[in-house]
Amino acid sequence: MTETVPAGPRGGLPERCRIAVVGSGLAGLSLARELAEHGADGVVVLEAGPDRGHAHKELLTRDESLKLWHTEDPDFHRAWASEWPPHYVHSSGLRRRLGGRSLYWHGVCLPVEEQVLRSGAWPPALAAELLGEGLPEGSLYDQVGAQLADWAGAPLGHCRSTRERRLVARLQELGHPVQPTPQAARSERLPGGEVRQVPFTPLTHWRGPVPLPLPYPVLPDCPVTHLRTASDGSVEVTVGRPGGPAEVLRADQVVLAGGTFENTRLVGRVLAETHGLDSWEFDNLTDHVNQGFVVTVPRATMPLPPGPGRAFCFTPELDTCRSYLFFDVMESPRPDTVLMCVWTMGEQVSTESRVRVERVSPGGQWELGVQPTISPADDRIVERQAARLAEVAERVFGIDPLTYSLRKEDFREGGPLFLPQLRAALGHDATVSGGAVFPYVYPLGSVDHEAGTLALGGDAVDEDGTVRVMPRVSVLGPAVFPRQGAANPSLTTLALAKWYARRLCSR
Ligand SMILES: Cc1cc2nc3c(=O)[nH]c(=O)nc-3n(C[C@H](O)[C@H](O)[C@H](O)COP(=O)(O)OP(=O)(O)OC[C@H]3O[C@@H](n4cnc5c(N)ncnc54)[C@H](O)[C@@H]3O)c2cc1C
Repeated sequence: MTETVPAGPRGGLPERCRIAVVGSGLAGLSLARELAEHGADGVVVLEAGPDRGHAHKELLTRDESLKLWHTEDPDFHRAWASEWPPHYVHSSGLRRRLGGRSLYWHGVCLPVEEQVLRSGAWPPALAAELLGEGLPEGSLYDQVGAQLADWAGAPLGHCRSTRERRLVARLQELGHPVQPTPQAARSERLPGGEVRQVPFTPLTHWRGPVPLPLPYPVLPDCPVTHLRTASDGSVEVTVGRPGGPAEVLRADQVVLAGGTFENTRLVGRVLAETHGLDSWEFDNLTDHVNQGFVVTVPRATMPLPPGPGRAFCFTPELDTCRSYLFFDVMESPRPDTVLMCVWTMGEQVSTESRVRVERVSPGGQWELGVQPTISPADDRIVERQAARLAEVAERVFGIDPLTYSLRKEDFREGGPLFLPQLRAALGHDATVSGGAVFPYVYPLGSVDHEAGTLALGGDAVDEDGTVRVMPRVSVLGPAVFPRQGAANPSLTTLALAKWYARRLCSR
């Protein structure tokens, strides 16, 4: 059994520990779990937000879940200012609570594309491990996939319903080589009897129906505000608990897993102070280029079985628009119509978006400013995506391509947005007025895939994830992705947690 840090008099916050993990989201808790498997002791996880239980938002109704995600979440925390709204001002942000965004994500698990891993942007040794070159135990992705499949009781890309099987078959007939979207999710029965696909959260390991409970303290309401090297070489981690004085925990090693922006804030402050400055800037902030449409058609146009149950599939469109194309069947309020969301998610090409970390008061408040950029190469992705979506609307749903209205300017201007378009689609009766599409864009910084500011092998962080000016501090999560490709980030975040744990424990 792994040794635990004894609860101290300071509400469980010890004076000292071996490894302090900052953040209890997808990255932080997954790392803690991996460390436990390696038998590491003296680990403490510090979480800024409260403990509000571990129920995933997918256990709510669709309306409640959308509201929580887009509009009414007491734990939503966007601690940066954008210099170019509508970019980086929408629903992306921390969900500052135990579990973080692992209680909100959809569970889509795609690896970073091989050509991106081999492009030279990723450290070659890590790329080889992600791809499994020379590893008898298989690639890091395969290892994580196997763990998630064990938890889910089925492979991630299995077909989850008859409806999904029919959707895949129909789209294949129409020339789209789709397959079920790999998701780390499993069927759970809600109290009312309804069965839902609920995504994985690493909180399961800590407090859920065991397999392996985390043997470490996971301390809520412990926001980390500052890091400093102490005279004995350890790291002084300052914790500013609400309503209390600042407290210090000394750690031999610190792993920052507070999400891209919070990791950037903490490292930016360290870098600025090391160089005697009041601010620090990072480039390479990237997000995904995401646009799509909600469509409602009579069931005869898309002959899928009625009744509940999601159907969700995808196909790569990497050559045409550096993107994936997703088809997601939603619950329709009308039995004779089918409601679907179809979207493209592509890699942002520009690496020019910047984050500025700046001291705003002598007392030590450090704020974040985001300077988003959309380059001409990003515009081309947007145009190709829109053209592809118009083609799909015509070939799959019989919509006149001339009525498909998204232009590249819409992405730059940041509208129309998803929620109003979904509402419009819900209000449209396709049996009376015929099928219709409701195109939307997600401006940059609204799909929670912000990444890249602390890239592995870049100026601030070395190829191992160590902060160059503070070698006992390392960073985990999408912030360290040198390039994220078109894939959703979390499978790679989980793979990196496995990789970090092994390296930390071998030191
Ligand atoms: C609705 C939604 C759907 C998504 N769907 C997918 C999907 O299908 N597939 C996919 O790959 N990704 C998806 N994502 C993105 C994914 O959830 C994030 O990429 C992922 O959670 C990031 O992990 P993280 O651990 O870096 O950050 P988080 O999960 O945000 O965790 C960070 C944690 O650190 C805490 N923290 C922050 N600062 C501090 C501090 N200073 N001190 C202490 N604690 C701190 C935060 O409170 C938080 O709990 C989705 C996100 C959302 C919101």
